[in-house]
Amino acid sequence: MARVAEKPELGVFMIQDFDGQVDLEVGGTVGQLSSNAVLSLVGTHCFVCEKPLTSDNSDTTRITREDLFPKWLKKNFMGPGDKIEKSNGEFILLSKNIDSTEDLVPCCRNCNNVLMSQVENRISCGVKGGYARFMKISDSDIFLWSSKIIYGLIYIGVNTWDFSTKEASSGWLKSEALEHLKLTSLLMKGFRKRVVVSSEKRPFSILKFHLKNSRRTSPNYGYRDSISWPTTLALQMGSVGLIVGFEDFGFLEWWYDQNYGELLRGKCLHPAQFWEIAGRAVYAGGLGGWDVSYSIIENEKGMFITLDPRIREGHPEDPQRLADIVAAFTEIPDLAKIARPGTTPTLLIDKDGNYQDMPA
Ligand SMILES: [Zn+2]
Repeated sequence: MARVAEKPELGVFMIQDFDGQVDLEVGGTVGQLSSNAVLSLVGTHCFVCEKPLTSDNSDTTRITREDLFPKWLKKNFMGPGDKIEKSNGEFILLSKNIDSTEDLVPCCRNCNNVLMSQVENRISCGVKGGYARFMKISDSDIFLWSSKIIYGLIYIGVNTWDFSTKEASSGWLKSEALEHLKLTSLLMKGFRKRVVVSSEKRPFSILKFHLKNSRRTSPNYGYRDSISWPTTLALQMGSVGLIVGFEDFGFLEWWYDQNYGELLRGKCLHPAQFWEIAGRAVYAGGLGGWDVSYSIIENEKGMFITLDPRIREGHPEDPQRLADIVAAFTEIPDLAKIARPGTTPTLLIDKDGNYQDMPA
């Protein structure tokens, strides 16, 4: 059991990380998540620990406001011109105004000030330190931090919280938007417990990119997501590019390796190239999907979750749809124009089929 002790107490880990040896601490409860369990908590409970929120000052479950896009991120990377763009029905593009108060989520004091801020501080140091520092951040931290952003965004999209009346009202998103985040919301218990996942593949994907970062490539911040399937988030933060696929069982990591692993190894990408990959990732991720059943053993300190994913159909192949997503993500309208049937324009490959270096 020595290896178990070497892992941090909190976070999300695979059972493979423990050589298959996990002390289950007999005495936990066994349960399965019902389909509406997550949705029923929206608005009245903390979105991280799911405890009921109170207004009592002395209580650790007192309601606080959690910034979806943390202040350090806004201060260092976001411009005052960033604004919200609404969905075209297929995917939603959002970027947040630095002064916006719309991106606050009700959260309990303990989760906000103690548990989440530990992860937040590590991410903040890594991102502000540039690509090399960012690469040292654990995947558990990156996953939890990204989950908090996408889950919070959808959460306030479904139930917009009014901090003056302390009541939730229905927002601009249908509650079905949370459907693909049920598993993620469970894994977010990694903020306050050791979560160990038993599954052949990790239930999410993390892709990290080294980006060219000069004043001329500004803005040096960008955010895009896909909320309807596939649930995916992409962030450009200075020299760091990050794509996270939720509940995709490593599909995006496999897809990237197959298509770009060799071509882009060791390359420093122009931000537009990064956004092309993010657009292609959203398209590719949507071609299939997963139905997941799972069982849980849980106690105060930890959760052991066994996943059984089964593949299901997604969107049909459609080169024009791919080109449209890439054009939207890169904000280069010309990339939506398909010259030869079945192919989509790209910034990644030159006419000889080699990697195309784009000056910053
Ligand atoms: Zn909480």
